[in-house]
Parts: sequence; C-alpha cells; structure tokens
Amino acid sequence: MKHTLDINKELNYEVVVCGGGLTGFAAAVTAARSGKRTLLIEKNGCMGGVATSGMVCSLLGGMDYIDGKYYFVTGGLFKELYYDLRKNNECVNIYGINRNRSPHAWYPGLAEAIIFDNEAMKRILDAKAVEAGVHLLYFTYIHDVSMSADTIDYIVAANKDGNTAIKGRVFIDCTGDADIAAMAGNSYSKGRDEDNLMTPATLIMNLENVDTENLLEYIEKNNSPRFRGKILELREKGIWNFDIEIFISMLLNRPGYHMANTIRQVGVDGIDANSLTMGMIEGRIDNKKLYDILVEYFPAYSNSKIVNTGETIGIRETRRIKGKFVLKLSELLEGANFNDIIALSSYCFDLPDPRKPSLQPLEGKSIKNRYTEIPFRTMLPDKTKNLIVAGRSISVEREVLGPIRVMGPCIGMGQAAGKAASILPIENNSSFSEINIEELKSSLEHINCIVDAAKIQEVLKI
Ligand SMILES: Cc1cc2nc3c(=O)[nH]c(=O)nc-3n(C[C@H](O)[C@H](O)[C@H](O)COP(=O)(O)OP(=O)(O)OC[C@H]3O[C@@H](n4cnc5c(N)ncnc54)[C@H](O)[C@@H]3O)c2cc1C
Repeated sequence: MKHTLDINKELNYEVVVCGGGLTGFAAAVTAARSGKRTLLIEKNGCMGGVATSGMVCSLLGGMDYIDGKYYFVTGGLFKELYYDLRKNNECVNIYGINRNRSPHAWYPGLAEAIIFDNEAMKRILDAKAVEAGVHLLYFTYIHDVSMSADTIDYIVAANKDGNTAIKGRVFIDCTGDADIAAMAGNSYSKGRDEDNLMTPATLIMNLENVDTENLLEYIEKNNSPRFRGKILELREKGIWNFDIEIFISMLLNRPGYHMANTIRQVGVDGIDANSLTMGMIEGRIDNKKLYDILVEYFPAYSNSKIVNTGETIGIRETRRIKGKFVLKLSELLEGANFNDIIALSSYCFDLPDPRKPSLQPLEGKSIKNRYTEIPFRTMLPDKTKNLIVAGRSISVEREVLGPIRVMGPCIGMGQAAGKAASILPIENNSSFSEINIEELKSSLEHINCIVDAAKIQEVLKI
C-alpha cells in the first residue's frame, strides 16, 4: 500500500533533537547554549522519557563513592540537575544516605542512586531548556525522513498541525530506539544476535503508605534485600507466578512513597506498536496482582495503596546502531585505551536475560578500568553524515548496554552529541565522523563535562 502525505507546515533549524528523554534534553540544552537554533521534538507532554513518563525516579551511573566521599562521574547537566533538585529538597541528599541501611537502594553499591521527585524533574527540565533557548515541540511524533544521498534533508513529524517537514543542518537521534537512524537506512541490530530477544520491560508502579521501617527490619533480620527466599516460598505455593524472583521497591523522596520496579514483562518489543499496547495493558494487570500479593503476604505493605503506574512502559533495550566502530565487551574487560572518550559510567553490567529476568548473565564480571568509558565513535551511524545517535541505541555489543544505558551516561552522551552538533563545520555535507576530537573533548570539559576518569569532581554537601 502506498500513500503520499500532504505536508501542512515547514520548520527550519540548525540542530534538530529527536526525542526528549534525559539524553535529548542534554543534547538540546548543550546545542542551544552553544548558540545553535535548536528544536527538540517529543511525543509526550514533558521531557525526561523513562525518567519521568516512565516514573523511574533514580539517577544511576553518574556518581561514585570513594573513601567516604561522593564524586560526580558525569558532570555538566547531571551535576546541575542534582544541585537544582537539592535547592528545594527535591532529590535525596546523597550524603544523608546510610549506605548500609538505605531504603532508597537496598545494596550499598546502589546507594549512589539519586532519587528525585518526578514533578520537580519535569519542571526543571522545562525551565532549563526554555532558558537555554531550545524550541520545544511536545505531542509530536517523528515518522519519516527525507534524504539526499547520505544526508537527511528533513524529518516528518505528525501532531495537531498535521504533518510538518522539519529541516535541519544536523539531527540528533535520542529516541532510545534509533528510530531516525533506522528510517534513514543505517545498519542496526535488535536484542540478542541469536534470536533478537531483548531484556524484559517494566511498567513501574508507585505505592503510598508503605511501612518502610518494617521493610528495613525484615531485610536486616533475614539478610534478604530482594526477598528472594520469601518469593520462592510463595512460588512453591502457587501464589507468586511472575517471571522474576526478586522484588525491588525503593523509597522515593517522601515518607512511605515507594517505586516498585518489580514486574518484568518478558517478550515485550519496544518497537512494535501492538506489543507496546499489550505491554501497557498487561503491565497494569500484573502490577495489581503484585500489589494484592504485597498487601497479603508482606506486612510492610498491608496498609499501602497504589498511587499510579507509569504513563509509558519502561523499555530497556531495542535497536542498537551498527556503526563502523562497535564497542566490544572484551575491550571493556581488558581496559582498552581510546582517545575519543566523551562520557563515563560508574554503573555495573545490569542487563537481565530476556527470558529469565532474575538472571544477570554477566554478574560478577568486572571491567579493568574503574569506569566504563564511552568513545565518541559509538554514536556514529554507518551511513548518514549529518546524524548522530545518543543513548542506549549506540554502536556497542549488547552486553555493553548494562553500564551505558542508565541515566548518568545518557546525559553525558547527550551533551557530547549536542556539543558535536555545535562544532561541526558549517560547510555543506560535512560529516560527524570528521569532528576534531580534541576540540570536542576540550569544549566538553569547558562546560564541566567529565571525559577523563582522572578528573571526576567531588560532590558538595548541600
Ligand atoms: C524499567 C526501567 C528501570 C530503569 N532503572 C534505572 C535506574 O534506576 N536508574 C537509571 O539511571 N537508569 C535506569 N534505567 C535506564 C534509564 O532509565 C534509561 O535508559 C534512560 O533514562 C534513557 O534515556 P533516553 O533519553 O536515552 O531514552 P528515553 O528515556 O527512552 O527517551 C526517549 C524519548 O524519545 C521519545 N521518542 C521516542 N521515539 C520518538 C519518536 N519517533 N518521535 C518523537 N519522540 C520519540 C520518547 O517519548 C522519550 O521521551 C531504567 C530503565 C527502565 C526501562
């Protein structure tokens, strides 16, 4: 079937950021602050993506803890967000956390998670983007590209205005799914090489009136941060029928208010409309089943109530572009040296098996360097010259997703893409692959981003 669309409107920008999750936010603010006429297009009514619409209110991968002190591993906008949120107590005070008894994260190693207020984050992202001069277009879905050879001329997006053609000098794909790269004909893979299966999705549920102290006491008494023993007992009795055998409930930044990041939705395909729809419907059903079990068998939840589930299902994995350079797991394990590092991650290899979500195939593996270092080349698609990709869909072997897919490094990659877009020579047809790496790295350092593990920055006690 062929259908030709009418274009109702045209827009023209220097930098067009596609997708407004934390990665897209960081890319757009960085490009706009560098003086570029920047548009950010987002299908939801706010920025933040998984972090806000998906209700995952926990920033990981951007901090480290060494000898009693916290350090930023992602600087720039990550650092700004932390301090802005702290001003009104809208995120946890990292120094206030008891690392051995934290209701915000049951493992000491996860205590570097910055738990934030969802509404505050949306408001701060809006304010920072508007202040930087980013033009925002919400409720707008990008569904097509128009090319001249290996260059995108314009993308086509649908909203209440009908179809708009949006021209750009450069495009930054922050859809999380490499939608633009795929539409433009770049190579990609999806999920595991052998069967294309992806790590399970999660529709987050928030609960109020949880007895957090009771929960902490249970965990301490049973030495069971994720309730595995109790869950196995419930499974034996036919009560717990979920694919996952752990339970993750984290206190957000108001008393008794918990984020249950527990259900694991095996088989959901984040780039299939029907699968996403079923994922939402089944996710709400599964969360209600989980809640009923919690109320009956976990005393800390007996008086709790469901507040809501996410506006969008949390997708951890879909497409990864296959660029000319692909970052390999072995390179991380062996500590390969790259000269084009643009962001770091302090997070671990957390990428559950597609069918058995309690299983972490790379559990216990450690990389040679302290942080996962992300080379600029991973963001370059193999064909399109004026397109760069940032976020979890970059050119890496699947296992590398574990540390790089979380919010800290996503913000770091977004800033690198935004800065690259602003220093790319303006002559027609120049390619992101021709960027001067030293210039990019020094201009990132100039805006406080961290591209060198030796230059992590101490977190102030505020
Ligand atoms: C359930 C779950 C739990 C997680 N837990 C944590 C955690 O505790 N801490 C942590 O740091 N990380 C966590 N992660 C990972 C992390 O949340 C994400 O990988 C990260 O937030 C990704 O940010 P992003 O901006 O790259 O992508 P997204 O947040 O997915 O943003 C992409 C944006 O693009 C928009 N978009 C997509 N396609 C289009 C299109 N065609 N047109 C217009 N707009 C489009 C989307 O609406 C979305 O807003 C978790 C992820 C999941 C799914």
